[in-house]
Amino acid sequence: MSINVTKPYLPPLQEYIGYLEGIWERGWLTNNGPLVQQLETELSAALSGGLVQFMSNGTIALQVAIKALELTGEIITTPFSYVATTTAILWEGCEPVFVDIEEQSFCIDATKIEAAITPRTSAILATHVYGYPCDVLAIEDIARRHNLKVIYDGAHAFGVTVHGRSLLTYGDITTCSFHATKLFHTSEGGAIITTSEELAKKVWLYKSFGHIGDEYFSLGVNGKNSEFHAAMGLCNLPRVPEFIAARRQVAELYQAELASLNLRYPVTPPATEYNYSYFPIILESEEQMQLVKDTLAAHDVNTRRYFFPSLNKLPYHTGADCPVSEDISLRVLCLPFYQQLEHDEVRRISQLIKEALA
Ligand SMILES: *Cc1c(COP(=O)(O)O)cnc(C)c1O
Repeated sequence: MSINVTKPYLPPLQEYIGYLEGIWERGWLTNNGPLVQQLETELSAALSGGLVQFMSNGTIALQVAIKALELTGEIITTPFSYVATTTAILWEGCEPVFVDIEEQSFCIDATKIEAAITPRTSAILATHVYGYPCDVLAIEDIARRHNLKVIYDGAHAFGVTVHGRSLLTYGDITTCSFHATKLFHTSEGGAIITTSEELAKKVWLYKSFGHIGDEYFSLGVNGKNSEFHAAMGLCNLPRVPEFIAARRQVAELYQAELASLNLRYPVTPPATEYNYSYFPIILESEEQMQLVKDTLAAHDVNTRRYFFPSLNKLPYHTGADCPVSEDISLRVLCLPFYQQLEHDEVRRISQLIKEALA
């Protein structure tokens, strides 16, 4: 049987059917239904009081965030992320300006941000890569001194705490993805989190075509999500601590099994409670990475070059050189990693990697 790099958690079917029965009784399928409202309330409580808007996906959340903050001109961003981080900027008619990542967390290097600020810079859009937090305090300080907005792409960061607070509550807006491949998922889905009531209201309008009933207020788009997706979220949300604990065991087993190899891993920054959302390894060279990838593929074990390419090298948009990101993106490989992954499979995969590199 083939092993994928991720496997979505499915709750007990009866539990989901319980929610479906409610949906059938009410006949209310979407447009801010009771399950969407309940999920938003429970998420807001889980995220130390950040105001959470449930959205159709993490990409539309990024686009709506850029619109809601009225960003124009240049947005300083990271080259080491999923492609949606960059394409959202371009889609909204802004220009991504790449600042290289730092060697430990693989997040944007905050010490290099100021050199990239120009009179056209309106914001910083950074990703908490694999759930490792950006240097949120340094970025907050830079943004305040230069009057810039801050958006975090928190697609990997659900369940992470930093300096005693949910990582998703930093910045003007944090976006999240609840796609089936993420630690907490609603099949498809995403969120915008902000601590500003005013921004939350604006986002609510933007995700609902900009009108309430017959009153029209602003431009908008359809960024809503449905009762069916909310139901999946309500089933999965209480299990997140369980997911994180199980993933931690898988991660620790991989690390123990692979300890004899010369691999690098990202380093968890201080004051962080990590969520174990991915298991990336950094090989010594691209050749070694490809060898491991091919060896595992020959045994029906799928891995993912995540992230590759470095986003300053996209065919339709080229940015300034980012040597650290370019180097890491050639050598990184995400191994199969999910809470239900059998420990015997972890041992087998680790053995195959050791044989490939022997
Ligand atoms: C998954 C992901 C997205 C996109 O989220 P969708 O819900 O799939 O649209 C954006 N940024 C990062 C870093 C991601 O991992």
